[in-house]
Amino acid sequence: MDVQKIRNDFPILQRKVNGKPLVYFDNAATSQTPIQVIDTIVEYYNNYNANIHRGVHTLSQEATELYELARQKIQKHFNAAQAHEIIFTSGTTHSINIVSNGYAQILSKGDEVIVSALEHHSNIVPWQMMCEKTGAVLKVIPMNEDGVLIMEEYDQLLSNTTKLVFVNHVSNALGTVNPIEEIITKAHAVGAEVLIDGAQASPHIKADVQSLDVDYYVTSAHKLCGPTGVGMLYGKQSALNRLPPYQGGGEMIAEVTFEKTTYADLPHKFEAGTPNIAGGIGFGAALDYLNTIGMEEIAAYEEQLLKYATTALNNIPGVKIYGVAPQKTAVISFNVTGIHPYDIGSILDQLGIAVRTGHHCAQPIMDFYQIPGTVRASFSFYNTFQEIDSMVEALKKAIQMLQ
Ligand SMILES: *Cc1c(COP(=O)(O)O)cnc(C)c1O
Repeated sequence: MDVQKIRNDFPILQRKVNGKPLVYFDNAATSQTPIQVIDTIVEYYNNYNANIHRGVHTLSQEATELYELARQKIQKHFNAAQAHEIIFTSGTTHSINIVSNGYAQILSKGDEVIVSALEHHSNIVPWQMMCEKTGAVLKVIPMNEDGVLIMEEYDQLLSNTTKLVFVNHVSNALGTVNPIEEIITKAHAVGAEVLIDGAQASPHIKADVQSLDVDYYVTSAHKLCGPTGVGMLYGKQSALNRLPPYQGGGEMIAEVTFEKTTYADLPHKFEAGTPNIAGGIGFGAALDYLNTIGMEEIAAYEEQLLKYATTALNNIPGVKIYGVAPQKTAVISFNVTGIHPYDIGSILDQLGIAVRTGHHCAQPIMDFYQIPGTVRASFSFYNTFQEIDSMVEALKKAIQMLQ
């Protein structure tokens, strides 16, 4: 992998922040966008912009073709059996809400659903709303001090009343890779469906939805070098056919009369209204870009960055890293004794280094460690070892100033 060549694909990496070269270590919140994806979106608006699916005219047909081609790219990347099992959404949050709202019509009082202690708020709150509506009970797989789920406890939670399990593939706050194969197999053994939140995994791990045998897998394009405001809901055809639609409107109907409306077939049943056409096409271009580099090459390089940064941070007195799972993606959450994470983040920003501070939309994890938040540095394949050196130097400076 030629990282210098790759960096040239990302115009934003050339810019300065506060007079210093930008070091972008907030990839777990959103990734940067390569010129190939930006060009694809510009090209769409310059040449093809039209509403899709209903048009008889050439532009509409071409736009439809490009949009459906993007759906096929997503299908291929995640190895879905059929293109119509890929639903375009506005992102992970939207995808989860489609399933949780559908489930609100399926579940009843006394049914149980299982979440993990490692979740992003967007894989907690929609389900709590669903439980309030239905009277279903939410159970939680706990984690240990290392940030690893306690699977024996999961075994205890599962029963014939379990209807659905929803867990992330990778934790955005700690980087833990969860044993989703085991989670899925055991859920299916009691007859429950499984939704996997893949938002944090997709930039690093290529999930194969058929070999996982997962019922629902969701992600956002902006975490994997694509544009914001677009994502996917993968669902098995049988699961999606059973799930009631979420939003009503144009595009999602077969026939409308004032007496009764029948819904369109998949995927349109879940795609009401005019979608983010340029975004969907950009999503496809982002997957092309990642696959040109190679997902395995990306993961191997990021693993080196993670090891290098972990060693360097552990050598700084007072630094404590949260989340030391044996299986991790390139995310490091840490604190320095006696210093608020926000103060570290502010000084790093003055030195051009973008990290995230706070609870990372995962307050239950912060509560577990009894901390208000962490500093989170998250790496991508376009980051370098020199950038990690810069962060370490800047962090030492910040500690000197603040202690
Ligand atoms: C980013 C993220 C989300 C939310 O994604 P949106 O694009 O904001 O909808 C959910 N879960 C995880 C694990 C994430 O990393």
